[in-house]
Amino acid sequence: MRYLYLINISLLIGALFEGSSASAYVVRVVTGEVRSGPYYNPTITRCRRTAAWPTGTAVKWFRNLTSFPDGSNSTKALISAWSRWNSGAANINISTVGDSGGVAFDDGKNSIWFSTRDTEGFPGVAYVSYSNRCNIKEADIIFNANGPWTFFENAQHEPFKERPRNFTGVAVHEFGHALGLEHEDRYYNIMGADSSHLTRGYNSDTFYGPGEDGNNGLVALYGAASGRPDIGLTVMRYEGIDGEYSTHKFGGIRTTSGVLASSCPIDKIGGQKCYSVVKGKTYQMEVTVENNGTAGAPSSIPINIYLNSKIDLSVGSFLVTRKVTVSRDVPYETKLSFTVPATAASKTYFFVSAEYAPPSGYSDRFSKNNAAFIPIYVQ
Ligand SMILES: [Zn+2]
Repeated sequence: MRYLYLINISLLIGALFEGSSASAYVVRVVTGEVRSGPYYNPTITRCRRTAAWPTGTAVKWFRNLTSFPDGSNSTKALISAWSRWNSGAANINISTVGDSGGVAFDDGKNSIWFSTRDTEGFPGVAYVSYSNRCNIKEADIIFNANGPWTFFENAQHEPFKERPRNFTGVAVHEFGHALGLEHEDRYYNIMGADSSHLTRGYNSDTFYGPGEDGNNGLVALYGAASGRPDIGLTVMRYEGIDGEYSTHKFGGIRTTSGVLASSCPIDKIGGQKCYSVVKGKTYQMEVTVENNGTAGAPSSIPINIYLNSKIDLSVGSFLVTRKVTVSRDVPYETKLSFTVPATAASKTYFFVSAEYAPPSGYSDRFSKNNAAFIPIYVQ
């Protein structure tokens, strides 16, 4: 499976011909050494960090108005993507503005556009060039005009269906590159396989964001902002490595001895695998908890488990509260136990959800990543 691409213009030239001026020849390098977590690329250790925009820079991108008309769904999705970095843990300041001028590499302007050229068949590409080993000077982002895309976070996309790809997820990933992050294969994270780094909760809506590891990477580059706590829940988790990317999988429902529960008469509900359970028995729901924000989240995170009769989580009965403790480093993959009520209706499908509600006195930046669920069938 092919994912996304990052292309570094001039980094290799700089490494090979330090001291001489870089020619206009564009060297395309796909790098895999720099991680989105705090990790130092051995080729640029003098920076003591990955190359980034100079500290304190307000970074503006020009969105091509033909590709991204004012008020269009593509523009709304694009703004959602960078806004989630902007209001994340790191001290950065991003904006976009509509632009009717031309688009080009190395023209001193950060541009974003759709094209069937220069994407090398990938959904999105970030072209990043550097003024020196430590600082980015320009980052252009091209999205593949062939798609197929959806601009809506409504679960009618990967990984719940084979296609289309969700634009917001790809855009969050490409902005990660444009801000100085490279691919990451060690954790559940947005700089791995972006299409499966998401949550799905209330109203069955989906939500793509930088996540804990992506935010950690930007904090390493730019320092932390203040006062932006954000806890995120998802059933997605780390699976393995594919090239430079992490791959991710759905968490499941396990018995107390750790065995995956059996399948349901209908294998998938709403694109998610369903697990068959027995009334009165205790199970474990696999959940990933991400601490996406800066300080300000509770030291003990209360997570409520509900048994819902509808996939939008609008009708449910409370089962139990579990508490977890998270630091801010890598996503915390855990199992939360619950008992299927003896009074639950037989031969019926439900959705067991894990939900975070900030306790009194605490705030939480995004609510769309506060719930996650798995379909179950009560035998
Ligand atoms: Zn990439």
